[in-house]
Amino acid sequence: MRKYQGLILCLLASCASPGYRATCRYGEVLVPRDLGESTAPLIARNLERCLPIVCSLLGIEPRTPVLVRVVKDDRIWLGVSAVVEEPTREILLGHEAIHDEGTISETLGHELTHWELQGPWLQIPFVLQEGVAYYLGCFVTGKMNVLKTLGPPPDPALLDLSWQEAYALSPEGLKEFHDAGFEMLKRLTFAKVKAMVQAGQTSAGAFAAALGDAEEPPKDLAPAGPSQASGTRGSAPADLRRRPVG
Ligand SMILES: [Zn+2]
Repeated sequence: MRKYQGLILCLLASCASPGYRATCRYGEVLVPRDLGESTAPLIARNLERCLPIVCSLLGIEPRTPVLVRVVKDDRIWLGVSAVVEEPTREILLGHEAIHDEGTISETLGHELTHWELQGPWLQIPFVLQEGVAYYLGCFVTGKMNVLKTLGPPPDPALLDLSWQEAYALSPEGLKEFHDAGFEMLKRLTFAKVKAMVQAGQTSAGAFAAALGDAEEPPKDLAPAGPSQASGTRGSAPADLRRRPVG
């Protein structure tokens, strides 16, 4: 999920170009000069707003400072984002992620979740970590309508995949993996996942059993017909998906 030497080399190269910098109480934001002076403070404001919400919902103390960097390199990331830990830990936002304030908020909420996940949260299956990140990205953006429609049932076998195995999938397989994570989260609900984490029930088997029990969707979730389902999948936060290329 997080360690891509090619990506890191690219980032080191991008360090050379001057740009804009903005700070907030939780960290700093670096933006290439050609993306405009207003982008860095806009991202910083969203960082300041989103981080406490994410940490509060996860029930953890914020791990700061956070470094957010906007990168322009379609060879590596097609307008998506990532958390990189080596050599410098930072959140990367691609140019699609900064399309407007909604995509900034949603992407930051997603990536801040990865940034902050710690302790027992890191013991849950990787596919569910993605589901939690999508959920919190939607939550901080007020985009809760995407939770109201269920897609196809997710394959419980995906609970056994490590992040290394997930990122070895084809681009299409990886997209399906992310979809499945969000689908699992919708069916289990964030409250249920959090309760299981707090109870130390973090194994793939525990979540597979819970998914089996959650066959009937929660009251506020109506199963979608085929046309609705495809519409929802299309409008789900696909713009946040990470697509490592090359
Ligand atoms: Zn993610």
